[in-house]
Amino acid sequence: MEVLKLGDRFGRVATDLRVSLTDKCNLRCTYCMPAEGLDWMPAEKQLTDDELVRLIRVGVERLGIEEIRFTGGEPLVRRGIVDIIGRVREISPHVDLSMTTNALGLARSAQALADAGLNRVNVSLDTVRADTFKTITRRDRVDDVIAGLAAAEAAGMGPVKVNAVLMRGVNDDQAPELLRWCLDRGYELRFIEQMPLDAQHGWQRDGMITADEIFAQLATVFELTPGEEPRGSAPAELFLVDGGPGTVGVIASVTRPFCGDCDRVRLTADGQVRNCLFARDESDLRLAMRSGATDEEIAQRWVTAVVGKLPGHGIDDPGFLQPDRPMSAIGG
Ligand code: SAM
Repeated sequence: MEVLKLGDRFGRVATDLRVSLTDKCNLRCTYCMPAEGLDWMPAEKQLTDDELVRLIRVGVERLGIEEIRFTGGEPLVRRGIVDIIGRVREISPHVDLSMTTNALGLARSAQALADAGLNRVNVSLDTVRADTFKTITRRDRVDDVIAGLAAAEAAGMGPVKVNAVLMRGVNDDQAPELLRWCLDRGYELRFIEQMPLDAQHGWQRDGMITADEIFAQLATVFELTPGEEPRGSAPAELFLVDGGPGTVGVIASVTRPFCGDCDRVRLTADGQVRNCLFARDESDLRLAMRSGATDEEIAQRWVTAVVGKLPGHGIDDPGFLQPDRPMSAIGG
């Protein structure tokens, strides 16, 4: 079987597949979605487990996918997730499998997920203070997240990474505290700049906390030195904290974009290929598949979708338009 490359016109090759398992979530983070939630994807549009596994198999067998990260929405709310991971592991024994999750319920499922073949988790946690957690997520569940983190570590899915978004006037004074908490537990913390992907379109360039502000705040408590490992296509710039071995990362998607090194491609829960988080076009693999396309035809369609990837996301361009889908429906 011929293996094609998911290459674009700027020499980048996508090998890292982000798969959204659902657009639903059990938190309501203010920077992501409104309190009442969203109009969820109709069930008939969501890929079935068989369809999902088939598309992933095409990606791995025919298109050179080397890493898969499951996301959402909240991937743990997808029914049958352990089975899905087991099936993906079976068809791709050498692929790195990870998940981005809010960790609600992970305390119960971590061992089963690890046994099914999940290698690692990235857990989203913006604060360790119960009141701030409730303000940001509109749910009183910080203890569940903390239990989920510990369970992931105990199940061997380390090194556990923690993703945090800072919001002005909400948790932007808690960066050193969160870093200390993560260092004490051996978790790798990465701060993510807030991006214009919220369903409410409330993001403002001058309202977001920039990487420079994050560094300045961390520097009041810690000494940060650039990590020695080359960054490659990794979104996070890594720093040693107080000489190491602990590290902290900053994903400065807005102020220091890293699009030139991007190796990611996304598959939404309804079977659309997106060549960028901020893409305005999608390629419909669900329709192709349900119309009887062969694996080869699906692969060709996927290749064409990636060829059109733009050089950058253009957040800073005057004509920037936020994509129609919010982050939760794309897969963050
Ligand atoms: N529910 C899972 C979770 O919480 O990790 C996976 C999906 S969530 C959309 C993935 C990541 O995107 C989370 O770390 C979340 O904090 C982050 N995120 C959501 N909206 C964002 C935004 N507007 N800008 C930056 N990061 C955002």
